[in-house]
Amino acid sequence: MADPGATLLERLPGLVGRAHVLTAAADLEPFIADWRGRYRGAARAVVLPGSTDEVAAIVRACAQAGTGIVPQGGNTGLCGGATPDEGGRQIIVSLRRMNRVRALDVANATITVEAGMPLAAVQEAAAATGMHFPLSLASEGSCTIGGNLSTNAGGTAVLRYGNTRELTLGIEAVLADGSVLSTLRGLRKDNTGYDLKQLFIGAEGTLGIVTAAVMKLFPAPRVSATALAALGSVDAAIALLARLKAALADRLTGFELMSALSLALSRKHHPGSAEAPPGHPWYALVHAEDSAPDAALAAAVETALGEAIEAGVAADATLAQSVDQGKRLWALRENISEAQRREGPNIKHDISLPVSAIPAFMHDCERELAAAFPGARLVVFGHLGDGNLHYNLAAPEGFDPARFMDGGERANHVVYDAVARHGGSFSAEHGIGQLKRADLVRYKSAVEVSLMRAVKAALDPEGIMNPGKVL
Ligand code: FAD
Ligand code: ZN
Repeated sequence: MADPGATLLERLPGLVGRAHVLTAAADLEPFIADWRGRYRGAARAVVLPGSTDEVAAIVRACAQAGTGIVPQGGNTGLCGGATPDEGGRQIIVSLRRMNRVRALDVANATITVEAGMPLAAVQEAAAATGMHFPLSLASEGSCTIGGNLSTNAGGTAVLRYGNTRELTLGIEAVLADGSVLSTLRGLRKDNTGYDLKQLFIGAEGTLGIVTAAVMKLFPAPRVSATALAALGSVDAAIALLARLKAALADRLTGFELMSALSLALSRKHHPGSAEAPPGHPWYALVHAEDSAPDAALAAAVETALGEAIEAGVAADATLAQSVDQGKRLWALRENISEAQRREGPNIKHDISLPVSAIPAFMHDCERELAAAFPGARLVVFGHLGDGNLHYNLAAPEGFDPARFMDGGERANHVVYDAVARHGGSFSAEHGIGQLKRADLVRYKSAVEVSLMRAVKAALDPEGIMNPGKVL
């Protein structure tokens, strides 16, 4: 009997052009392992379509051959979602060649882009017209808008602008049978039944291939203010957040929490970053923006922080006096992940909770971790304004880090059980991919999991879209 895979391989060059079907081992290399080097798979080919029609043709051919498809954007995902399995039969569909702006409508405040466009390029295209696309991640030079949609990416401006989901007005996607769903209408109001685009946001490529999207734009910020506050407790940080929201409303764009240890690590490995007042257990990085050029924003931030100090909520605060000083304050927060990596391996958790539940969660979880892993060091930081914490565990001083990492699954259960008890989520930003499939079944309700399976079966009955991911 003919090998359907071989037939497929013969057909692909006719669909996208020979130059856009990669099969040599060296050419496949950048596509078959993830960014962290944690997952490595094998693929029959990497196909690089140049249009939605070409994506549809590839999907139809793969469907006929019963071959699994792994959609891939910038390959910066942190859960192995864009890495094929080890069987060597799956096809990677890389959207990288589909990287154009289709339309930019200033009056409608929208930009329509192809899925393979790097996030930084979308930001630049918006800025070139005086508008602002607020999604911002440390990976923005490499990650793509299709990957951002498929992981519902968050980042540092969620407090004001929301996740990718809140920024998306329409999508175009190729379904598992090769048909094309298009909702690229750029409407802010459209109550005509089920909002189908939502299914594809955060689906990690398991329901179809996103080929384009309409994204919201905003007026560009003209003034900004950055400050660092020192705090005596997480409760105080939450009280400060509430005060700043009341004082600044939606001009507050960032509120990043850092524990003293995460800040110390950041400064140890990046000595050029700003000083922080020593001797406090917690710090918050505060960022505000206004699109009115003459707004007295810095004064408003300074007044709110002064009142917080007077009320005993904040212990100390520094307002950046220049753009450069503001950047050096941000560097404290941005360098934590890299500093942690240099310090040694970590058991990482990307969790979210209702902001109000965070103090009780931390109290419980810290006690349980101290009992299970005596001496382990907690490196806690994150987007407190969104209730999203990077709650990481480093080996005790002098302990063999590799042996410590063996306790990963046990630590995950301690943390995720506590998260579940306090009404939170075990994956706030980075998704499920291959990494957290078992946790999905463990921590989501039976009703949620069975509804997810029903959606998957309805949209991809043969299971060819990113098999082995999420569910
Ligand atoms: P990929 O890694 O290529 O794919 C991710 C998933 O989406 C896979 O399941 C893949 O199959 C699927 N997919 C990709 N493109 C498509 C498509 N067109 N159609 C259907 N499915 C598709 N994430 C955050 O949320 N917040 C952060 O602050 C953040 N910071 C990061 C910092 C660094 C340094 C790094 C390396 C990563 C960070 N990430 C962050 C994670 C990552 O950058 C995001 O998940 C990003 O959205 C992935 O985009 P990508 O194009 O690289 O997708
Ligand atoms: Zn984050």
